[in-house]
Amino acid sequence: MTKLPALCCLCLTLCILFANGAAAEPADAWIVREGYFCTVSIRSDVDRDALNQKIDTYRVDFGLTEKPDMRGQGAQDEIAYKLDLIFSKVQELLDMRPAKIHTAVKIYRLKEEVEGVYAEIFWENGTYAAFYTFKLNTLFACEEAISAQVLAHEMAHCIIDHYFGMPPPKKIAELIAQYAELHLKE
Ligand SMILES: [Zn+2]
Repeated sequence: MTKLPALCCLCLTLCILFANGAAAEPADAWIVREGYFCTVSIRSDVDRDALNQKIDTYRVDFGLTEKPDMRGQGAQDEIAYKLDLIFSKVQELLDMRPAKIHTAVKIYRLKEEVEGVYAEIFWENGTYAAFYTFKLNTLFACEEAISAQVLAHEMAHCIIDHYFGMPPPKKIAELIAQYAELHLKE
């Protein structure tokens, strides 16, 4: 008879321990790194090493006179550095450097999660693996379909939206963003 309360007590202790463990890293936690142009938030379920591999910045620094600083040694620090590097290159390619520009970048694991965020913001469906919205000054992307070119395209939208007092027509903005994407490694 005395064993039961002891067992319950153990269960309760374990429950509390697990609950505390879960509270330390809830399923929806974000890993955040602040860079010069971008503050990147990476969902905790994203494979950060795989993500880092997918953002291939080979030759992105080509022609760049100034490069951002690397602020740590982890995959997330390298990702933050790469985002700043791509952002710098897109500014150079477009010759547009809006003052004090800084954007949030949120990276999910799956494309369907990005589509869910798009539907929440715009109240309509969109099949986008990545998008930037000036309204929230945030670029949304996913590990599943990320690349340096995808990021360059969306960063170009961010730069265009900040550079022009009156935003250009959507088709023109799209052409400029495609130009940045195409020439990123030249
Ligand atoms: Zn676009």
